[in-house]
Amino acid sequence: MNGEDRLETRAIHAGQDPEPTTGAAVVPIYATSTYVQSSPGVHTGYEYSRTDNPTRTALQTQLAAIEGVMPDDEGGCVATASGLAALSLIGYLLTPGDHIVLPNDAYGGTFRLIAKVLGEQGIGWTAVDMTDLDAFAAAMRPETKLVWVETPTNPLLRIVDLSAAADIAAGGGAWLVVDNTFATPFLQHPLVCGADMVVHSSTKYLGGHSDTVGGAIVTNDGQLLERLRFLQNAAGPVPGPFDCYLVLRGIKTLGVRMERHTENATVIANMLADDPRVEQVWYPGLSTDPGHEIAAMQMRGFGGMVSFRPKGGVDRARRVVESTRLFFLAESLGGVESLIELPAAMTHLSVEGTDLEVPDDLVRLSVGIEHVDDLVTDLDRALG
Ligand SMILES: *Cc1c(COP(=O)(O)O)cnc(C)c1O
Repeated sequence: MNGEDRLETRAIHAGQDPEPTTGAAVVPIYATSTYVQSSPGVHTGYEYSRTDNPTRTALQTQLAAIEGVMPDDEGGCVATASGLAALSLIGYLLTPGDHIVLPNDAYGGTFRLIAKVLGEQGIGWTAVDMTDLDAFAAAMRPETKLVWVETPTNPLLRIVDLSAAADIAAGGGAWLVVDNTFATPFLQHPLVCGADMVVHSSTKYLGGHSDTVGGAIVTNDGQLLERLRFLQNAAGPVPGPFDCYLVLRGIKTLGVRMERHTENATVIANMLADDPRVEQVWYPGLSTDPGHEIAAMQMRGFGGMVSFRPKGGVDRARRVVESTRLFFLAESLGGVESLIELPAAMTHLSVEGTDLEVPDDLVRLSVGIEHVDDLVTDLDRALG
């Protein structure tokens, strides 16, 4: 395993050498809380599973490698119990009086944690449309310590220019953190564009099968990694070995899944864009999309998320999300199965009445990897 190996190869080999005692080809689920020592303080490197667990180590090595951080590089990954646990750990890097700049259509849970938890502890924040680089730069304050970027954003799929964001953050002496959940390392490499940390909800595409909740932070900064590893152990929001195993297994097929998610989403976005029953479509792969040019520059593909507004307002939108057969009406995204939801009434309910409000008739699709013709038929029927 070395830095010349491509992402597909790293996903299958990084951190995953055969288990030395038995030759097991797959990293075992190390279901143990503690590790036997030969004499006090003399151990294998593993002492207690909040601090380190071999299944988690394998996942961290694998995920760092696909974000471009190899085992011999500075930096690495800390896996967490959820995506929001990753943000919580980053919150511990801040102190009262610090300030965060975040997108005005951030993931609802991210907004809630920043506004209602960190905000209550004396950390300031400003939500801004980050596609407007002047407004973005104007939101920076001398006390801004952290710039949080999502691209594509959720659920409006806006594209933020990562290199420009890195310049703005660095100019203000702030860390740039990019939530790479929607794009995944197969479509976008924020660290290469200048980000200091990448955050994932591995609940989504990394796990890929809607069967686990997890998160991670990847950084190419050795000091930040050391601090994050300290916080991971000190605060304790670690994933269990079984959850780590599920994400480790999911990532092995991430490349092929992202290809298919993107192919299917492209067909569906085009179908919706041509449909007279549809008012508006958001997909960065559409040449008419305002984020298309930047997306084409910084992404390897446009991903599996599509949002649209059917004609006929919120009642019609509700009927559509209740009428699909293959697209399950559910929160979350990034699994092999297609999902449909109404963000204003579901994932984004907590942002009602704030800057982060989304249109109440917006429908969000997480396009799965079923046969695309079946998905098209399903949506066509649901649109009535
Ligand atoms: C789901 C999600 C999160 C939160 O992750 P959890 O695993 O649910 O805690 C953060 N950011 C984005 C973009 C998400 O989709």
